[in-house]
Amino acid sequence: MRIALSVLAIVCTAGLSGTTNAAEQHCPIAPEKRPATLPAAAANQILFYSDWDRAYAFLESKQDIAFGDNPAIHRWTDSSEDRAKLRQALEQLDKRTTGGQGEERSYGRLYQGLLVELGRGMPTRYEDPNIIPLLCEAAFTVQMIVARDSPSFTMPYLGTLPSGTLNATTFGVPGSSAKLVVVNYALFSFAHEFGKIGLATIKIEARDGNIAIEPSDEYFNRLRSDPAFLTRTSMALEDFASERPIVGHALPRQYDDTLLGVMDSALEQFAVAHEFAHIALHHTSQDSGPLQGIGEVGSRSDQMLRQSWGQEAVADLYAAAVVERISMREYHSASSGSLTGELGEFTRYAPVLFFQLNQIAEEARFVHDHKVLPPRFSDADRTLVLGFLQDALTDQAKTHDRAPLASISPTARPIPDVVRQFGDHPPAWARRALVQAYWQDHAPTPKDEVEVAFGALAIRMGDNLETLWSDIAPLWVEIVNKGPQK
Ligand SMILES: [Zn+2]
Repeated sequence: MRIALSVLAIVCTAGLSGTTNAAEQHCPIAPEKRPATLPAAAANQILFYSDWDRAYAFLESKQDIAFGDNPAIHRWTDSSEDRAKLRQALEQLDKRTTGGQGEERSYGRLYQGLLVELGRGMPTRYEDPNIIPLLCEAAFTVQMIVARDSPSFTMPYLGTLPSGTLNATTFGVPGSSAKLVVVNYALFSFAHEFGKIGLATIKIEARDGNIAIEPSDEYFNRLRSDPAFLTRTSMALEDFASERPIVGHALPRQYDDTLLGVMDSALEQFAVAHEFAHIALHHTSQDSGPLQGIGEVGSRSDQMLRQSWGQEAVADLYAAAVVERISMREYHSASSGSLTGELGEFTRYAPVLFFQLNQIAEEARFVHDHKVLPPRFSDADRTLVLGFLQDALTDQAKTHDRAPLASISPTARPIPDVVRQFGDHPPAWARRALVQAYWQDHAPTPKDEVEVAFGALAIRMGDNLETLWSDIAPLWVEIVNKGPQK
């Protein structure tokens, strides 16, 4: 069942991206990345780029420490068992339809193509074969936008690592000027699973030959008291909180695939664009890696803290602008009448949804680790945090106006105490407030009411997920405090 989740994500993206091929310099799946000088891999042997490429060797050494011998991590071995699982997963997707879809719409037909894709080699021994093509796809789309403003921007190496939160991280490769962007390996499956659950809270059904999408309180409230639905949501959160691969406990409904694929892509693009912003804007304090003590507090001077928050804020707004441009180009400016042409407002909401998911993920991990509900901040504290973030953003933006590498002039205002507990990254709720303000201020003239309705659908997904988590969190606290016997 685990593979069903990941393959589905590929299937959705593959179905939507048409002929787009993430054929970029450092995109490991691209055929161009295979060196001509290397002997072809023997039959039944997988090619690993880490065997000759310094950056991927560096990544593999980090993954080796982080993943160790964790048997729960999915790796593609091309064994007959792996192949059978892949085929089964595709067949399962096809079983959802009630016939009449025809061969050309079936997921099963993708089987051979996926095998070819996987046969082209993997960046390292630890990369999940289902995730790396998605990462490349997102990076390729984002890079096209970034390169327009920063022509010297070169595609970094890409990979995955386990890390505390759903964020991504940028490393410099030792002994080289190359950059390595790694995303949390759970980010894609978490975004996919919770996008799926969020969509499932909306009534979507076929009626009189049309697909009816209906956000209804009655429908959602019924799910809120449905033990099977709550269990499914809770188990996916528990997988994340205990750093296990996230297992999907239900397939998307028959008509969810397109919306889910589009939202998955937008969330992935946002995460990638945030990292690319740090690189393109020559930020000095890039996201610290999970193996360098993420969230360590106290070691940074006030000026470094202010700069780090400012750079995070700038990178978030940059990424929100990238997602917006993709939304406008791919969806808003497409002709009305097709589903694609109506999804501009749906995807433009992705940065806000991203931080809603992040907040839920962080809180779930907090409850899991501390057995109490996460701290709630008073309105006064929230105002102080948001005020500091705004100040840091303003300071940072000034440096970009002058020169990207200009040093920051320290602001005289002292840092509020409440800020210090968050370390060098602002909390997800503050970052959400920032991108939400951007989203509000940049609303385009709506194309038609259908596009607006799809935007409302995305908002509804995020709100419903927050409500579900607020239902589940106290239950978790109750359960974990009952002790080992349940
Ligand atoms: Zn960052």
